[in-house]
Amino acid sequence: MAAVQDGCPGAVNVVMLGPPGAGKGTQAGRLSRTRKLPKISTGDILREAVQSGTQIGRVAKETMEAGNLVGDDIMIAIVQDRLNRDDARRGFVLDGFPRTVVQATALDRMVDGHGPLVVLDIVVPEDELVRRLSTRRICSKCGSTAEPDGTTACGKCGGALVTRVDDEADIVRERLKVYLRQTKPLVEYYAGRPSFSSIDGNRPADVVTAAVDAALDAALETAGRGVAL
Ligand code: AMP
Repeated sequence: MAAVQDGCPGAVNVVMLGPPGAGKGTQAGRLSRTRKLPKISTGDILREAVQSGTQIGRVAKETMEAGNLVGDDIMIAIVQDRLNRDDARRGFVLDGFPRTVVQATALDRMVDGHGPLVVLDIVVPEDELVRRLSTRRICSKCGSTAEPDGTTACGKCGGALVTRVDDEADIVRERLKVYLRQTKPLVEYYAGRPSFSSIDGNRPADVVTAAVDAALDAALETAGRGVAL
């Protein structure tokens, strides 16, 4: 089943695509655990940078709080740097990158010769996205997203749960507009590739996980048969 490409036998490179609230982070986390691949969430990287007050964090803070996209140059440099680390040699699950066609083109260059790029687009209707984002809570201590089961403390570290600044109603509307304008065109960018799949994300998380697993296996099998992805 493993794809064998130049210099990187068996590498599995996955992009989780979809609007905010589609469940990309949850599904990327699950894939990361079952496939033993690093989950690379650009939102998490930026939030950490904001929290620790690095230069990137200072540049990104206002943009993120307004629901806009951080500049392509910064994002491409962050991801390039992260993919150069040893744990990404056998592949990765990207959550939140690429978000623009410029970023997607840069990612194609980064993975060129390092295995297939499997793109899984999670589709959820807009009213359901708004509902999910307005009830989403994150941990004020460790930043992880809480399971949507009504608990009041973080399951990982016990920290208090809070609403993400950019999940406030006005910002959510802006983020969905930004998604439609800048990120949705990526569906067209990738749609012609045999490694692209659309997955109905408007179902219980476990059902979506099974569909994500099946789509990834199918793409890897296609790659294993020598079809260029
Ligand atoms: P997320 O956690 O993926 O929803 O990302 C939170 C915020 O971080 C986004 O609304 C953007 O402001 C910023 N961000 C994350 N990933 C990217 C990216 N690939 N390009 C530009 N901005 C990003």
